[in-house]
Amino acid sequence: MAYEGILNISSLNLERATELRKMPMIYLTKDGKPRFVSEVPAISGLMLKHWHFRNLINLSREAGDKICFFCNRLEAIRLPPEQVQRYYEELYKVKYGDKEIELIENCVGEDVHGFLAVVKGKSLRREGNVKFSWAIALGGRENEEYQEEAYRRIVIVQHSRHVREIPPEEEVKRQLEALKSGRNEGSGKNEKKDEFNDLMKQLKQLQMPYPKPYTSEVFGFTTIADLSAIGVSLTDNGKTIDPEVRKIRQRNTILAYAKMLFGEIGANLSRSLPIAGKFRLLIAASKKGHIPPPVHPVYPNYLVESVKLIKDAAELFQDPAIIRIYAYDMNRETKNALESEDSDLVDVKVVETPFTEGFGKVLEFLGL
Ligand SMILES: [Zn+2]
Repeated sequence: MAYEGILNISSLNLERATELRKMPMIYLTKDGKPRFVSEVPAISGLMLKHWHFRNLINLSREAGDKICFFCNRLEAIRLPPEQVQRYYEELYKVKYGDKEIELIENCVGEDVHGFLAVVKGKSLRREGNVKFSWAIALGGRENEEYQEEAYRRIVIVQHSRHVREIPPEEEVKRQLEALKSGRNEGSGKNEKKDEFNDLMKQLKQLQMPYPKPYTSEVFGFTTIADLSAIGVSLTDNGKTIDPEVRKIRQRNTILAYAKMLFGEIGANLSRSLPIAGKFRLLIAASKKGHIPPPVHPVYPNYLVESVKLIKDAAELFQDPAIIRIYAYDMNRETKNALESEDSDLVDVKVVETPFTEGFGKVLEFLGL
């Protein structure tokens, strides 16, 4: 899948303290010339993967799939130390397991997103079956003045809390002492002073401004999922879990991507749901899995280039594929260029709706 749309940087980008993450970038301009920009806002693939994981767990819970203790709490601790596993197993009657096949049978999170377990010098590792690129701000793709523009968009907003009245210090001191003498408490002078200071501090905090950075930006990222590896344990000679459960997990892995497009990614959604914007999406799948990741949206012509690349691989491996493209502002020329790649082996269509005609058709093609 290749995605291009508005994301909330301040919520997705704060992996390190309060500083926005930036990286150097070389953009290719439309005429093919490289252009260097020293600092570009970026969101790590780890952050995107985390939001896919959360959507997957929520969908899996609805489907009645097995989920371990931490995954159920949407915390990506895959796996906790052995003693912690045994503790929660006893307490909540959940099951982890020792071998890879048991661990993936007992939790969709460990199965789809992988894990690393180190127990008494013995280590067991499962690679995640869902992989994400970094999300890169796309402003620099066509805009020569991008660097300055990008910084202007990051704004700090002062929020404030208000209660009707904070009592004066003298009043608080007097009432605190009256309460103490009523209870006949003979505490020391310092203890009294600490209690008063703490209380005053907390009262004052009921009325205060607090700053919060906000910004939205058009970002692009790509992601791939190896559905064939879901429910298969490589360290148990390719043993698989129940085929029906595998199918549910493969379907939910795709639906979790669709949920990411709702804007259900990033923290602080209760006060900064991204201003819903239009997006562009390319979603592709192949029967045997010999499919390259799409070209990243940092490249200006990524939709046409991705279709050509996927078709080229499909022909080499004789692997039937489906590609659906949704873009709100596509011109006739691009639409014709994309649809002219449609063939017996690769079904290419530009669609009007991203969900039913996009994700829905891909699920149908895969028999999910
Ligand atoms: Zn889990």
